[in-house]
Amino acid sequence: MQGLMMDYPLTLNAILGRAERIHGRKEVVSRRPDRSLHRTTYADIASRARKLAVALSALGVRTGDRVATLCWNQPEHLELYFGVPALGAVIHTLNPRLHAGELSYIVHHADDKVLVVDETLLPVFESFRATRTFAHVILIGHGGEMPDGMLSYAELVERADAEAFAPRVLDETDAAAMCYTSGTTGRPKGVVFSHRALVLHSLGSAVPDAFCLGESDVVLPVVPMFHANAWGIPFAAAMVGAKQVYPGPHLDGASLLELLAGERVTFTAGVPTIWIRLLQELDRAPGAHDLSRLQTLIVGGSAAPKSLIEAYERRHGLKIVHAWGMTEMSPLGTVARLPRHFADVPEDRQNAFRAKQGIPVPLVEIRAREAEGLVPWDGQTMGELEVRGPWVARAYYNSEEGDDRFTADGWFKTGDIVTIDALGCIEITDRAKDLIRSGGEWISSVALENALMAHPAVAEAAVIAVPDPQWQERPLAVVVLKPGQATTQEDLLASLAPHFPTWWLPDTVEFVEEIPKTSVGKFKKAALRERFNAPPAPVPGGLDAAS
Ligand code: AMP
Repeated sequence: MQGLMMDYPLTLNAILGRAERIHGRKEVVSRRPDRSLHRTTYADIASRARKLAVALSALGVRTGDRVATLCWNQPEHLELYFGVPALGAVIHTLNPRLHAGELSYIVHHADDKVLVVDETLLPVFESFRATRTFAHVILIGHGGEMPDGMLSYAELVERADAEAFAPRVLDETDAAAMCYTSGTTGRPKGVVFSHRALVLHSLGSAVPDAFCLGESDVVLPVVPMFHANAWGIPFAAAMVGAKQVYPGPHLDGASLLELLAGERVTFTAGVPTIWIRLLQELDRAPGAHDLSRLQTLIVGGSAAPKSLIEAYERRHGLKIVHAWGMTEMSPLGTVARLPRHFADVPEDRQNAFRAKQGIPVPLVEIRAREAEGLVPWDGQTMGELEVRGPWVARAYYNSEEGDDRFTADGWFKTGDIVTIDALGCIEITDRAKDLIRSGGEWISSVALENALMAHPAVAEAAVIAVPDPQWQERPLAVVVLKPGQATTQEDLLASLAPHFPTWWLPDTVEFVEEIPKTSVGKFKKAALRERFNAPPAPVPGGLDAAS
């Protein structure tokens, strides 16, 4: 027997329509490059998103075409988030922190037709412009000169006729957005989000035990809109009608604090580096900022140290909530909200729970596997985490390379090594790969090693992560020279410089006689870590300092 409910497509248009009709007067506030505050509303965003769709359509953008963006967290990006998919096209957010070579590869692989670039990010576009011809390049200007051959975003939207918007009948499984993950080995891989996945992710992430978002919230996603859709927060906030606050390009602690206090933010989210920086700022002038409205600071992207969680709580009365996810999961997987029965246990045990990565949000299933099979949920046995759910990728875009991460029975292998306890709470104990996470962004050790080993004096090179108080991790290179050869740290770094962003370059190069190897001849990085990994240096201001 069939159910007798309507077949109502789950599309982003439904989210935008609700934001406009029910919460049309709610504000979207953002900081402009000149630091001024720009205020608009959901009604305005919705109308401009439709005009944008009309304008893009007139430029020849068709169903399924990719529209790339090089933008910050800014209102135009929200218009693009809704306007591009409204047309049946796909918004492809580019990470401006990537190296030109990677950006060039990604825009080719995605076959992006149009690029929308913020004026402040023009140098990033220039870095790969010669390698890719777009049908149109659209500039979001801030008063500078319009470069030749580009179209003005403001004029396109202004001139478009909102009445000409013909709503497309979209299938909920159609692609709405895409984003590339940075790969360890091999190339970045494309993750393609469907309308349905993004709508269900918005519902799943807004529930009380996850992000707990409602109409009365004021949300400030520090996590960039080019990093896994700012963890889906712009969509979820629009769905519930929460006010949104965007920091634009100003991500320093003082600027964020000013926005958090001034706009009475209740919910914010970002990687640990952001919160480490903000803590230093808070410690400098305790009580100087009124953060009494701020209920939740979500931290994810890499592990949040227990000491960070405690420092916020004890010194500033602020609550950090730890979450875990992946681009391939739209991205939310688990959230560590304290379960009810933890209310009466000692604070130390509460904080130990909150430092874990948490419990799966509704509709996400987890399991972990080791060589022998699935591991028991005993909080001790480690295995590789596998997940499935309505917002988890089932394949990478046009790539066979990552095929082995999708199991025959329909799960995704995360590459994260975890334990799962009896509550279903995961704790990430290690990474299956050796990526280095610096300031919330990945650095590929393999890419650096390959480049180092291309140097004429170098025989072998291994790059490992060392803890860093500000960036969480930084790369350290261990190098074996060829017999009779000599070189210096400066010379090696200079040879890397043309090929990588500056922040990828190792802080230190250690010259050794030999790199230990595993039984199959791979570098034994665990041994190198043991030798060179200093214990985490204390965070300036002292995360562990008592209140
Ligand atoms: P990305 O796709 O760039 O968001 O990176 C996803 C990866 O970041 C995961 O596979 C984890 O290795 C790591 N990650 C995300 N959140 C956390 C967390 N809370 N703790 C530890 N690692 C995390």
